[in-house]
Amino acid sequence: MVTILDTVKIAPKARHPEKANRPDNPIQRKPEWIRVKAPGSPVYKETQSIVKENGLFTVCEEAGCPNIGECWSKKHATMMIMGDTCTRACAFCNVKTGMPAPLDPNEPENVALAVEKLGLHHVVITSVDRDDLQDGGAEHFAQVIRAIRARSPSTTIEVLTPDFLRKEGALEVVVAAKPDVFNHNLETVPSNYLTVRPGARYFHSIRLLQRVKELDPTIFTKSGIMVGLGEERTEVLQLMDDLRSADVDFLTIGQYLQPTSKHHAIIRFVPPDEFKSYETVAYTKGFLMVSSSPLTRSSHHAGEDFAQLRANREKKLAEARG
Ligand code: SF4
Repeated sequence: MVTILDTVKIAPKARHPEKANRPDNPIQRKPEWIRVKAPGSPVYKETQSIVKENGLFTVCEEAGCPNIGECWSKKHATMMIMGDTCTRACAFCNVKTGMPAPLDPNEPENVALAVEKLGLHHVVITSVDRDDLQDGGAEHFAQVIRAIRARSPSTTIEVLTPDFLRKEGALEVVVAAKPDVFNHNLETVPSNYLTVRPGARYFHSIRLLQRVKELDPTIFTKSGIMVGLGEERTEVLQLMDDLRSADVDFLTIGQYLQPTSKHHAIIRFVPPDEFKSYETVAYTKGFLMVSSSPLTRSSHHAGEDFAQLRANREKKLAEARG
């Protein structure tokens, strides 16, 4: 028997197999305040080749971030560690889902090399969810932080972590590696969790952020949400109070953008003046820093924001000392 292999066509694997049978949500035209410049400057291309040469993934590309043209033109790329495949299946996220590959032991050094080559003063490291790993990838996060510190001691490090749900002791491992900023996004208000972030638990995420401050009060804590997912204003204000109860320093609020027709629909484009109003209210609630605009993303302008955050804390401490 002869088997002819070269005529067999293998269908490309879907990026989000779990969403394949969902009804289509047509993609809406963006309002003029959401438009961004197309990427392609020489510095953008340089950033792109450093990312490629070091075999890295970035959330900028994987999540289809609208700010990539601006950020990469300033060499600001947010590294996404532990592979390109996520074990959760959030309704808003464009990162590929499925069973991830084993961890790459060379990744911490490769990330550190890329940070050095890019000459970053501040770097944001995020990851996919790794529910398949016993510690959720906490030790790998810690290794990446240590490798960056070894090569670039003056670079400040911000981690944007998963929730380490049911991973006893994982958070402590990351905190012990002493990132400068610990970010964990709530993503949306609690009433949306079942439809938007079904694998997560709102109060677990709040508690995670609170625990970081209890373990090491010198670390800045940060969290962010998307709006336009059907949330009520009162729910956003309640969420701000919940974050302040957990002593969170920095809040980011941005417009949700729908990656494909299989993702959660945009319920509303929130106009810029509502973002401004959220910012005003959040400052009155005691956040050290707030970034609230249609194109705000957790890692957008993270370096400048970190400098401001540090200055705001110094000012507050000086005022408290009288
Ligand atoms: S905002 Fe963050 S994720 Fe988006 S391009 Fe900039 S660094 Fe990357």
